[in-house]
Amino acid sequence: MVRLGYRQRLSATYVLVVMISLLLITGCLTSAIHGHLVSRTDHELTTDAMLVAEVVRNMLVQTQSPAAIDLMADGLGAKTGLRVTVIAADGTVLGDSQGNPVSMENHGNRPEVLQAYRSGVGLITRYSVSLGSGLRYCAVPVTTSAGDVIGYVRVAASLAQVEQSSAAVRGFMLNAVGIAAIAGVALSLVLSKGISDPLKNMATAARAIARGDFSRKVRARSNDELGQLAEAFNHMARELEQSVGEISRQKNQMETILSAMADGVVAVDASQRILLVNQAACDMFGVRADQALNRHILEIVRNRDLADSLAIASAGSDDIRETTAQSPRALALRIHAAPISGASGSGVAGAVAVLQDVTDLRRLELVRQDFVSNVSHELRTPVTSIKGFADTLLDGAMEDGETLRRFLELIDREADRLAHIISDLLDLSRLECTNASMPLSPVMISDAAQRALEAVQSKAEGKSIQVLLQIPAELPAVQGDEPLIVQVLVNLLENAVKYTPDGGSIVVSASCVGATVRVDVADTGVGIPVEHLPRIFERFYRVDRARSRQLGGTGLGLSIVKHIVERHGGEAWASSVPGRGSTFSFTVPVWASSGHM
Ligand code: ADP
Repeated sequence: MVRLGYRQRLSATYVLVVMISLLLITGCLTSAIHGHLVSRTDHELTTDAMLVAEVVRNMLVQTQSPAAIDLMADGLGAKTGLRVTVIAADGTVLGDSQGNPVSMENHGNRPEVLQAYRSGVGLITRYSVSLGSGLRYCAVPVTTSAGDVIGYVRVAASLAQVEQSSAAVRGFMLNAVGIAAIAGVALSLVLSKGISDPLKNMATAARAIARGDFSRKVRARSNDELGQLAEAFNHMARELEQSVGEISRQKNQMETILSAMADGVVAVDASQRILLVNQAACDMFGVRADQALNRHILEIVRNRDLADSLAIASAGSDDIRETTAQSPRALALRIHAAPISGASGSGVAGAVAVLQDVTDLRRLELVRQDFVSNVSHELRTPVTSIKGFADTLLDGAMEDGETLRRFLELIDREADRLAHIISDLLDLSRLECTNASMPLSPVMISDAAQRALEAVQSKAEGKSIQVLLQIPAELPAVQGDEPLIVQVLVNLLENAVKYTPDGGSIVVSASCVGATVRVDVADTGVGIPVEHLPRIFERFYRVDRARSRQLGGTGLGLSIVKHIVERHGGEAWASSVPGRGSTFSFTVPVWASSGHM
């Protein structure tokens, strides 16, 4: 079926209304005119019939000769142009202006004659095949002065004229209907354009708004309902533009906040499909945001804990737990999932999870635990020894003067070790307390090295180790805390002496590298296997635990060195050829200005 547009339907309605009205008018008018003409004919025919009856009455009373009556009927018919028939009271045709009465059948039962007999005038229309038109018959009775019916007179006239007049009026009216229909179509098309054009404009503008183009406005040409509709439409477009603007501003704000967050954020709908995932979350699980949207959480992130946590939150309750991610890097994550309530505030529309990277926290905890167990272990050893010697002495060994002396010496050595470890630990904890500011002053490496050398001189001489200072006179001063720099050098020199066999040598050299001074302490000692090099600066790390203990080491010397150097903004590292010697190096910034670190 062809679907008509609004405008065509409006035109068709106009035209239909006009045509139906005109056709009704045509029908009514034609029938009224036809009725009027017929009644005028009836009036004339009745008058004529009555006149003829007057003439015929005398003849019927006087002669009764059918021939004379027929002749008279012929004469009257010729004069009036009507068909005149004279009928006797019994129905016998006595004369007829158009036919031979002898051959005509009895007319007593003709409806017009029966009507005339009953009501004085009989008026009937009959179609004449020979004339091709209707004939109007009018019969009146012929009465004597006493009122007796002695016959009937019937006159008949053709209705061709009447029908022609009616047909002419009908034809005229139908032409008028045709012209009105064409004019109606044209007029209605013009008029409906005035309604359909603004509607079309509105439809185009609505489509533009749907595409996000709010610049399209509808022009309100009139003050009528269409004008009001256009104004309401424009108002709606403005409101919509503001709302959409507000929503997209909020969305941008939220996206900026989410992408700037260090914590990961993942939101899912009630069926666990991802609605939102920020950059931090993508980085944690090595996924891409554009590939994750609208996919099930487990399809994208293969982490049971996160999926379970989101499922619990989707069911309406908060969930907090920890999990680990393996790829792209190993992470410890803390998940906090909460439900997202539905738009109307009723029910749960999904869940959001915030993922906090707690890897550093967990690692620090581990380091702390390690440290505590290491410290306990380190302290326990000398304490156990002291306790053992003391017990042995108390058990009677102290009676022997020699043993007593030896054991007391051992107790003294272990107590020294204990004091040494505690003092190193205190040094470390002071250095780790980053809030304490460090007073900086220009420090000459040559002076610091000289002082450090003095501290280890006797030990070196005891092992016939030669210590050489090769520090250029023009070396700039460094920016530092002199006692700490001296401590770094003392620790390195003590180690060098400890791990260098008798007769070896140690060289302390320094050079200026860019804005820093580099100091190297090289020995000809036992060296360090390459696999240990990355770890020797860790607390309590020793290559050979027994040897270190024996030499009175605490395992903290290098870690103190590293801390001091790093607090000065420098670096410390070691290189070694096992069996041939080691070189410990560090850098400190050149003195530039006075200040605190
Ligand atoms: P320790 O008190 O045991 O010397 P450090 O922290 O000073 O502890 O040193 C850590 C470890 O590094 C030592 O146990 C030792 O194995 C190794 N080490 C340090 N300095 C030297 C060196 N000059 N030559 C060889 N090994 C060294």
